[in-house]
Formats: sequence, C-alpha cells, structure tokens
Amino acid sequence: MHELAVTESLLEIALRHSRAAGAVAVTDLFLVVGELSSIVDESVQFYWDIVSEGTEAAGATLHFRRVPGRLACRACGHTYSPRQDLPCPACGSIDITVMTGEEFYLETIEVETAPEHDPLAADHFREPFSVVRDPSIVNTPEPTP
Ligand SMILES: [Zn+2]
Repeated sequence: MHELAVTESLLEIALRHSRAAGAVAVTDLFLVVGELSSIVDESVQFYWDIVSEGTEAAGATLHFRRVPGRLACRACGHTYSPRQDLPCPACGSIDITVMTGEEFYLETIEVETAPEHDPLAADHFREPFSVVRDPSIVNTPEPTP
C-alpha cells in the first residue's frame, strides 16, 4: 500500500508548482503510469480524495496515461512485451532490462489563476471562480463526518 506515500508526494509536487505559478486552484493532474509499476489507479484516486482535502488541489481530476511495458535482452538486444515469459524469447537469456513501463510521474497540471489584482473592483474577483468546474475547489471544504 505505498500508494498513500506516492499520492502525498504527488500532492506536494502539484501544490508546489501551482503556488509557484500563483494559482488559486489545481483542477487537473496528468499522471504517467507504466504498466509494470505496481501503482493502482483506483488506489491513487482514493488516497487523492483524502490527502488533497482542504488544499487548493481538492477536487482536482486525476488523469492516468498508461505506458506499455517493454523489456530488452542484454545478451542479444531483442526487445519484447513483458506479457511473454521473462527469459528472452529470442535467446533464452535472463539478463533482462526494463526499457519502459516502470514510470510513475506527474506530467503536467492545470490550474486556475487569479486575475490581475485590481483593488478598485473587488467584485471582479468573483469572475475567475465562475470558470472553476467545481466551486468546492476554491472554497474551504466542509469537514466530513
Ligand atoms: Zn536475448
């Protein structure tokens, strides 16, 4: 169950980038997940809803992009899908290296930014929030029982 630690790390990265960009809310996170990684999308989503609560990333949508696994034989250079047997199907070597499929990283995030500050038109601060898909993103969520 290392998805909790992974998800906490994900949140920390997303918040760091959104704050650096002066964003008021994180709306979408685009993740890259290799099919050989042990990451379970549903578990990350489950933990995300918990750890992001109360932050400006609460309610953000997680998008998962799966990267197919690819193995390479060090002995003969043959590359193949990990769905086949572990020994190289070409030469039988077990000296195998993973080329792709173990990835897990945050590729990009989408954020809502505040408008340029205009102290004479405070009402205008309502406008940017109207384009936020989920109003709870910019409001402090109610504590759940
Ligand atoms: Zn081989």
